[in-house]
Amino acid sequence: MRKNNMTIQQLFEEGIKVLEEGNIQNPMLDTQLLLSYALDVDKVYIYTHRDRIIEGETVDNFLSLLNKRKTGYPLQYILGDQEFMGLNFKVGEGVLVPRPDTETLVEWIIEVVKSKEKFNKNTINILDIGTGSGAITLSLAYYLENARIYSVDISEKAHKIAKVNTKKLGLESRVTLLKGNLFEPIKELNKDIKFDIIVSNPPYIPSDDIDTLQKEVSKYEPRLALDGGADGLDFYRKIILGSPEYLKNKGVLGFEIGYNQGSDLKRLLEEIEGFNNIRIRKDLAGKERAVIANWEKSN
Ligand code: SAM
Ligand code: GLN
Repeated sequence: MRKNNMTIQQLFEEGIKVLEEGNIQNPMLDTQLLLSYALDVDKVYIYTHRDRIIEGETVDNFLSLLNKRKTGYPLQYILGDQEFMGLNFKVGEGVLVPRPDTETLVEWIIEVVKSKEKFNKNTINILDIGTGSGAITLSLAYYLENARIYSVDISEKAHKIAKVNTKKLGLESRVTLLKGNLFEPIKELNKDIKFDIIVSNPPYIPSDDIDTLQKEVSKYEPRLALDGGADGLDFYRKIILGSPEYLKNKGVLGFEIGYNQGSDLKRLLEEIEGFNNIRIRKDLAGKERAVIANWEKSN
């Protein structure tokens, strides 16, 4: 249906109404962002030009974005990007939108590197399993100038988007993106490569819980990025078992975890001789969100 011209104020009100109908969490903020995106102006412009008349074609475009968002389609997939650790990441369908929660793990790893002389004096090798958009990989590369990062994802789409983000941030010289299953691409490199740090935000939602998540996640984000098997712990088991072969002595293994997985992770790590000093950190919401363990080879 072709809409007539409307003022910015009218579009704003329409936006809030439509998004409220869809039970979207932040109707006002989302409307601001979608409207400035559709008009190609910044947010302030919306407030300072409320009486400006917008022509029908742009009105139609905005209304179709609104109707998409109303179904729960992620805002970031429409806008095409998401901020993480102060950096801008391109995102899109098929790739997990980086979460603020994940900054807990990234900040912690940066702290660990900066606090250990052996990690900040030399070049260090880091492996990130499950690249996604590149949120963890690229922010570590950006903030740790002595780090060389290898990053693996099985998803073609994630691999492609991470490539774009690597280039955008100018980090190609220290980041190697690999496509494949867990440690396999590292094995295929056929070098005797070992890592100071292995890090991962793997899929960790129990399969049966995915449909209970908000529709932005359950309907539109890739299952491949979320599904951690029956108890959510499949990837932790595999990575914990696989990492001793690839960790340097006195290396570090770090994971993002679900809010209720702390004790499971502690147990899984304790089962393998060599992991010690296992500690858990909470996110800003006070929920357990990351675990780090040291690795010491037993001879
Ligand atoms: N690191 C990103 C972040 O924190 O925003 C993405 C994390 S997402 C929760 C998990 C990622 O693991 C997804 O990109 C998914 O494609 C990838 N993945 C799933 N199974 C995998 C496998 N067997 N091997 C490597 N990566 C895998
Ligand atoms: N934190 C994400 C969510 O709650 C899950 C990401 C993951 O499985 N690693 O949707």
